[in-house]
Amino acid sequence: MMKLDVAEGVFPLGESRTFSFVIAPESLDLGDDTGHLRGEICVDGTVMNTGSSMRVAGTVRTCRSFVCDRCLAEGEREITLDFSEDYAKTPGETDEAAVCDGETIILDDLVRDTLLVAEPLRELCKSDCKGLCPICGQNLNEGSCSCDTFVPDPRLAALESLLKND
Ligand SMILES: [Zn+2]
Ligand SMILES: [Zn+2]
Repeated sequence: MMKLDVAEGVFPLGESRTFSFVIAPESLDLGDDTGHLRGEICVDGTVMNTGSSMRVAGTVRTCRSFVCDRCLAEGEREITLDFSEDYAKTPGETDEAAVCDGETIILDDLVRDTLLVAEPLRELCKSDCKGLCPICGQNLNEGSCSCDTFVPDPRLAALESLLKND
């Protein structure tokens, strides 16, 4: 568990402190999403006593495996995600506000949410991935095939016939 000691007596107003944790994906209870996180999760950041709240900000770094949405190639990618949260010292008007009990802040939920929210709907092995040939399935990043995948643009065809009539 990633725990910050923020007891008032030892954490003066205006002071900020750095923290650093290295945890295993399994320890975060990410459900099915742990499967494609590779290796450790590194969490670094600062916590600051702003008076009304404890302000936590930092980054999560880990490695994630994925399958390319276009060519189905498997890859691994390092990801760095920012997070920040104000832990109010007294409960605010909204239920959502994170509340600090005045002694400790547990970062696990914040880190878990940061990882889950960042989950992309689709991911490409590279931004210009050519994908697979819809006819023969050839991975077009590795070489072209001999299929005729040319689809004529109807507007262009109309223009061509106009030019011919001229
Ligand atoms: Zn790809
Ligand atoms: Zn083909």
